[in-house]
Amino acid sequence: MKDVILKIIDLDSNARGVARNEGMIFFVENAKLGQLVRAEVVKEKKSFVEARLVEVLEESPFLISEKIAEANLCGVYDLHDLQYAKQVEFKKNNIINQINRIAGENLDNIDFVEANKIYGYRNKVELKVSPDGKISYFSRASHDNVVVEKCVMNTEEINSVLQVLQELILKHNIPGYDTRSNKGCIKNLIIRSTSLGETMIILVYSDSHDFTSFIEDLKNSKIVDSFYMSKNTKPRNYKMIKVNHIFGLEKINEDLGEYSFKISPKAFMQVNKEISLQMYNKARDFLKSIKPQILLDLYSGISTTSVLLADFIPEILAVEINQDAVEDAKENARINGIQNIKWINKAAEEAIKEIDVDNNKTAILVDPPRKGLDKTIIDIVNDSKINDLVYISCNPSTFARDLKLFKEGGFYLETLTGFDQFVNTLETEIVAKIKRERNV
Ligand code: SAH
Repeated sequence: MKDVILKIIDLDSNARGVARNEGMIFFVENAKLGQLVRAEVVKEKKSFVEARLVEVLEESPFLISEKIAEANLCGVYDLHDLQYAKQVEFKKNNIINQINRIAGENLDNIDFVEANKIYGYRNKVELKVSPDGKISYFSRASHDNVVVEKCVMNTEEINSVLQVLQELILKHNIPGYDTRSNKGCIKNLIIRSTSLGETMIILVYSDSHDFTSFIEDLKNSKIVDSFYMSKNTKPRNYKMIKVNHIFGLEKINEDLGEYSFKISPKAFMQVNKEISLQMYNKARDFLKSIKPQILLDLYSGISTTSVLLADFIPEILAVEINQDAVEDAKENARINGIQNIKWINKAAEEAIKEIDVDNNKTAILVDPPRKGLDKTIIDIVNDSKINDLVYISCNPSTFARDLKLFKEGGFYLETLTGFDQFVNTLETEIVAKIKRERNV
């Protein structure tokens, strides 16, 4: 295949370098924004060409000068070596392009909230252990273990826990689970921390290794506030199933603004506290301008949003599929002295069929996982008398797909703000206000 010389002028949503040459668009795996590269053509399509990086002819002026070792990165930080201003430009453009292309909007600029903390922000990680006991992550391409000493994106508390865990796993000779042979022990290490300095570990393991002295040492290290274990013997399955509380707190504590929250092992919490609080405040501003009588908070988790909104919305109905999260949510409302939230512990697409949406006093807040909304929800909202919707999204493309469907029901995008929650990765968050004019 032939070689071409390309100037990388952009990145696509998978962080491949984008270049133009003789009227064609080129996508070059591993090429960085701003580089001049020699690339080998791999696949030629009608309107674009896929190419492989052969050599960098001129380095990019947009890369940060200090190098972060791969072993300190946990695998997901595709943008880590790009200057922060360029990361922001990439993320803004990504949101604008997806929404314009998929939802037929005409945005040329959007508000975007940048992060103050570029490193040390991440409050939850999931890591593996290699068969010889080294804490690691799976490389995306090969599933090989890449050893992690500490990750510069993690909070300091998580990195301290990682160091102690590593020492103890080696001291007690506990092998990591080996995908290929289906042998070994530790499958998954989930480590969480909160801004109050509390830490939680959930250790997923496959066989009945004797953990007694390991647990004793971990407890004595005093670095872990809450320790759980979860046995999972299914081959090549790494999930925490049933969790057993081993020592310390059953739930760890976090605060957001003036409110306190308890988080159990299986409940969701945003990974970046600084940015998530700003996202919640944006949703709050949007809802304040709507002043609904009733709020349906769909995908409500441990009720962070419901609790932060309960001072000015008379009735809140929170819908969440995870039973542990609903239990946390009830406790969170109680410890914050809030009485105007009710919960439905069901899938949002099921629960909404049972809720009264035949009025215009209700507004909806949604905060779904990456796959976006179930179409049932959009159909019901489009057919309802509800005219106000606030959408928190962690995936611009599914947000754009859903916006298109809401537009078919007469809604329009009033405004949106992008947020850089997951700094140095390709991920971007959005909080949007979607509305329709109706006098019903
Ligand atoms: N709003 C919360 C949680 C957002 S994360 C916060 O900001 O903290 C998305 C939540 O949706 C998770 O708690 C997850 O358990 C829940 N979830 C996933 N699928 C769901 C579904 N089909 N119906 C209701 N909740 C769902």
